[in-house]
Amino acid sequence: MLELRHVTKKFGNNTVLHDINLKVHNGEVVVIIGPSGSGKSTLIRHMNLLEQPTSGKVLFQDKIISGSISKKAQQRVHENIGMVFQHFDLFPHFTVRQNISYAPRVVKHLSKSQADRQSTELLKKMDLENKADAYPDQLSGGQQQRIAIIRSLAMNPKVMLFDEPTSALDPEMVEEVLKSMKKLAKSGMTMVVVTHEMGFAQEVGSRVVFVDRGHILEQGTPDEIFHHAKHERTKNFISKIL
Ligand code: ATP
Ligand code: MG
Repeated sequence: MLELRHVTKKFGNNTVLHDINLKVHNGEVVVIIGPSGSGKSTLIRHMNLLEQPTSGKVLFQDKIISGSISKKAQQRVHENIGMVFQHFDLFPHFTVRQNISYAPRVVKHLSKSQADRQSTELLKKMDLENKADAYPDQLSGGQQQRIAIIRSLAMNPKVMLFDEPTSALDPEMVEEVLKSMKKLAKSGMTMVVVTHEMGFAQEVGSRVVFVDRGHILEQGTPDEIFHHAKHERTKNFISKIL
């Protein structure tokens, strides 16, 4: 589904990713962990055109999406690969419903009633139906992040990328967002998730990838990585987050 092939990324003289090879298969939930500054965000940002590799390739559904690609190919990526960041970036002057409907209406040319129907359905699934007419600043951080997830889902993506979606939240709101993400994972969505939430990884992760200083040091099932890591650096990191 998604693949990084020999991806190296430099910012000036600083090599941030070293020859990364990573394949994400259909229906997999790949969890990326690693110390601060190890390159996790840079890695995941390569998966939806937010970063370009210095060398190597990025592929989506076996087609190269890195380098110079056509507008149409870029649009295909934006429509099929959703991303949710640490800071929920909802449009502040739009209601929840308008936030969700905006891209489907503009990009997919849904009518207002089609988009409204779709947003109602998605809000129901996430138990946020009563918030349709609220503005983002009237919602808790957890609710805003769940709306950001719904907004991405409204494009009907094939893959969802998450970069530390719960790390800016107050502790009591983390669970509700993780619950939404688990639900999504269990529905069969292909997901790549940068997070240190072990419970999430254990429950729905197909694979955990440990990134250290721009290298994939090791990867395996959640059990292999959390309880039987091969490398000292992995063990050491995990002992700090468990
Ligand atoms: P964190 O856990 O703190 O989010 P991370 O693993 O996501 O860290 P990255 O944000 O990918 O790490 O950063 C990896 C390295 O790349 C860091 O040294 C960072 O300073 C550098 N870096 C990231 N983005 C840029 C940029 N746009 N320009 C220059 N350097 C950058
Ligand atoms: Mg990061």
